[in-house]
Amino acid sequence: MIEIEQQPWKDMVRHAESTYPNECCGAMLGRTENGKKVVTRSVPLANSFSGEQGERYELRPEDLLEADKAARAQNLDLVGIFHSHPDCDAYFSETDLKNSCPWFSFVVLSIKKGKLDHANSFLPDFDQTKADKEELIWPKS
Ligand SMILES: [Zn+2]
Repeated sequence: MIEIEQQPWKDMVRHAESTYPNECCGAMLGRTENGKKVVTRSVPLANSFSGEQGERYELRPEDLLEADKAARAQNLDLVGIFHSHPDCDAYFSETDLKNSCPWFSFVVLSIKKGKLDHANSFLPDFDQTKADKEELIWPKS
């Protein structure tokens, strides 16, 4: 289960809506309590994919490393990655699975006509052969 607090959620949605119709991406920082992840900060990162950014995102490894350092400096962990699907449902694609890693939660935000529609979180398995849906809680206001 992953729960996203008000402020990081607002920042994630704003980032996803403002980069529409391109895909956006970013890091989620927080802590894990009794197997439950709580996201207390989110960090928007640049989509570094050189092709059509409406269909794909790519994270620079050095940006991710930077986010991890920032997390540690605040006594937090890097708990997950988020990205958006412009005019598409929040599913986990083959490409998403291939570019994933098993110890993070992957939150996908479906942005339709520039506005948040819904979101889902996924947990890739160790071999990156499938990703189960994870219960996701976000502030509804
Ligand atoms: Zn995707």
